[in-house]
Amino acid sequence: MTNEWKARTKLVHSGTRRSQWGEVSEAVFLTQGFVYDSAEQAEQRFEKAGADEFIYARYGNPTMRMFEDRIATYLGFEDAFACASGMAAVNGALMSLLKAGDHVVASRALFGSCLYVLEEILARFGVEVTLVDGRDLQAWQGALRPDTRLVFLESISNPTLEVIDLRAVCKLAHAVGALVVVDDAMATPVFSYARACGADIAVISTTKHVDGQGRMLGGAICGPTTLIRGPIEAYMKHTGGAMNPFAAWTHLKAMETLELRVRAQADTVMKLADGLMGHPALQALRYPTHQAHPQQALALSQAPAAGTVFTIEVKGGKAACFRFLNALELFTISNNFADAKSIATHPATTTHQRLPQAQKDLLGISDGLVRLSVGLEDADDLLADLMQALERV
Ligand SMILES: *Cc1c(COP(=O)(O)O)cnc(C)c1O
Repeated sequence: MTNEWKARTKLVHSGTRRSQWGEVSEAVFLTQGFVYDSAEQAEQRFEKAGADEFIYARYGNPTMRMFEDRIATYLGFEDAFACASGMAAVNGALMSLLKAGDHVVASRALFGSCLYVLEEILARFGVEVTLVDGRDLQAWQGALRPDTRLVFLESISNPTLEVIDLRAVCKLAHAVGALVVVDDAMATPVFSYARACGADIAVISTTKHVDGQGRMLGGAICGPTTLIRGPIEAYMKHTGGAMNPFAAWTHLKAMETLELRVRAQADTVMKLADGLMGHPALQALRYPTHQAHPQQALALSQAPAAGTVFTIEVKGGKAACFRFLNALELFTISNNFADAKSIATHPATTTHQRLPQAQKDLLGISDGLVRLSVGLEDADDLLADLMQALERV
């Protein structure tokens, strides 16, 4: 029944389970363990736990289960496993599905920690990883092999906002029998097209738009039940990457307002992009579904909006860029994104500081690049703040 509800109804109601008290708001179950009526029941549950039977919070918990159902249903996947963070989800999906001797093809423009898991950790366990320019379909085709087990990519890359033709990559990957795992953080759950374009698994950092208010770390691996309740659950429950019940509860309550928040933030991004277009202090401005982006048509063919983050390139290099950042009054300087509070990040000196210069050049992470995460403030106030700060450049 819940699968027939419209998206916003799912965000409020899917997955809800009530205790014998009949509470209206979802309960947080802060318990590590569960009591059995008898020794026989305990034996039975260890043999095979039903969907609403719990053993230990590292394996699952009623609050976590409600969140898993809600996020999976909303994104169109059969099932989900809730994780302690976005990286616990990325690592869990990759480690549980790969073994020594497997080949992985991934896009090069990846979140730093994802790159570390692929290039440092998986390599140590004998997994071969080929990195390609995600925008280049011929590069994907050239890198895929009969022994390619998995394809990994970010639907929209961070911080360069490159867009990948996900339908085409899924087709190529499936032709050689590879699973497609999409890191869906930047696209946002509201404008996610991972499932619609054929991805097998979506990993999301729920730290970002699901919490959306800068409080909680969380993640989810969404996919078919055979994988989620098979190798993925087995790996996660035995290695300790499960989400804690309080985070699951915060996420459930945050999902109720997810669409309202993200749609408002995406609208504000467009207003700011329109307001800043052609500003003499700017070298470039990028937001995938805005006319200024070279991949606008592809981005629009996949989703009506491209999340809550856009980038600008300030003329005059690092010094000018720092003058701009230091003059901001409403945008705060930080490194997270998808908060209700607007945030400005200078990737070259913070999140991507350790990348060798050649890598930065290859990815387009220049000294003038600023990533702007747009929050829930009034668009006019945000635009005024950006304009006055650009005056100081
Ligand atoms: C933030 C982020 C992650 C990691 O999420 P955490 O919740 O911080 O662990 C992974 N991938 C992308 C694209 C991200 O933006």
